[in-house]
Amino acid sequence: MSYVDRVYQQVVEKNPGEKEFHQALYEVLQSIAPVFEKHPEYEAVGLLESIVEPERQIMFRVPWVDDNGKVHVNRGYRIQYNSAIGPYKGGIRLHPSVNLSILKFLGFEQIFKNSLTTLPIGGAKGGSDFDPKGKSDMEVMRFCQSFMNELYRHIGPDTDVPAGDIGTGAREIGYMFGQYKKLMNEVTGVFTGKGIPYGGSLGRTQATGYGLVYFMTEFLKANGKSFDGATVLISGSGNVAIYACEKAQTMGAKVVAMSDSNGYVYDKNGIDLATVKAIKEGRRGRIKEYLEVHPEAEYHEGCSGIWTIPCDIALPCATQNEINEESAAALIKNGCYAVGEGANMPTNLGATKMFQESGVLFAPGKAANAGGVATSALEMSQNSMRYSWSFAEVDEKLKGIMKSIYEQASSAAERYGQPNNLVVGANIAGFEKVAAAMYAQGVI
Ligand code: NDP
Repeated sequence: MSYVDRVYQQVVEKNPGEKEFHQALYEVLQSIAPVFEKHPEYEAVGLLESIVEPERQIMFRVPWVDDNGKVHVNRGYRIQYNSAIGPYKGGIRLHPSVNLSILKFLGFEQIFKNSLTTLPIGGAKGGSDFDPKGKSDMEVMRFCQSFMNELYRHIGPDTDVPAGDIGTGAREIGYMFGQYKKLMNEVTGVFTGKGIPYGGSLGRTQATGYGLVYFMTEFLKANGKSFDGATVLISGSGNVAIYACEKAQTMGAKVVAMSDSNGYVYDKNGIDLATVKAIKEGRRGRIKEYLEVHPEAEYHEGCSGIWTIPCDIALPCATQNEINEESAAALIKNGCYAVGEGANMPTNLGATKMFQESGVLFAPGKAANAGGVATSALEMSQNSMRYSWSFAEVDEKLKGIMKSIYEQASSAAERYGQPNNLVVGANIAGFEKVAAAMYAQGVI
């Protein structure tokens, strides 16, 4: 059995039932296996055994009181996965589905994504099974304060810098940052995705969605295609989806569908993004309310139907495993020629294989959605300098970073004899830097 297969088996045995973690691990380990053939010294120092094991996993109780005086207890997590190239960095997910497996998959992926950004940030992820949906602002605030009452002692501007993710937007970050500041009695850039008046970076809100489109633009260009005139599907209608839609539209694409966890809207005239923003950013409503403004559009219950709409480019921007083999088959049959992952691991392993085998240009989230964390690192730089860049400056840097991520992933894919296979390219390019850093720092 190869080194990689042996370590994978050990992890599965040691961490039973963590299916999302196993899935992400399997994908990365298969891609990076050839690196170990070139670097036998890595096996001698147990580098793979080390990188698959989080440096630290923190789990804690989060009690809070609702508006009726009832006590609820959630579970909080922070997975500080790897700090070889910089302080731990990764978002906080608040969603009822959150568990150790999901956060370990996300934290593990984050190591390589952060490495690809070219910026000095390690990998982490955190969150809770708390559901902010349907809670009042005061309930969300009490939860966030309680969450931070424990987490504050494990993070810091040079230790671990959390950020937003599903369910953690500007409101939640504001409450968490406020509590951290109160407990520590210091104002530091300990969170990213902060509001502009208290240290946030211009362009962070747009960064993941815009970055996805910048990345895809490079990938499409290298293959003689572009967004101009293309029909695009975007799942989700949250932060990533909205700004992917905005940028794709400016590049001349016609986005015809968006969704939320209840269903999707299909507007053959092209999605009116101002209406989506008013529903989602304005009043936290449901995507079906789109029809109140555009009765000519269609609404369908369920999430997977969106992938049966004919399109040129699909940008899954909602959540993990939203494209399975059946959805992939429908996309391929209808002529979709490019898939760019805005979400983390939205395509399952079987569907990814199908896209690659049918020649669909497939951009893995690790590379394609790294614009968010890259801009978070730019926010950290601005906080350290106590200075801020203009929107145009940040956007220009983001564009340069996404281009460089594309170049690193595509050149690693070529170096390892798999041109255009960006899954392999991104995993290898991200891994090479972290592995070299870990090797240099010794067995610690
Ligand atoms: P948001 O919470 O802003 O939006 C998530 C969207 O996905 C919502 O429209 C939500 O619908 C929908 N959704 C959630 N679960 C499901 C489901 N099971 N089926 C269908 N739709 C679903 O999150 P973000 O936009 O920030 O994040 C989206 C994805 O992008 C996640 O995978 C995240 O990890 C990833 N990502 C985010 C980054 C960022 O900067 N925000 C950076 C890199 C990756 P509803 O409103 O009904 O819940």
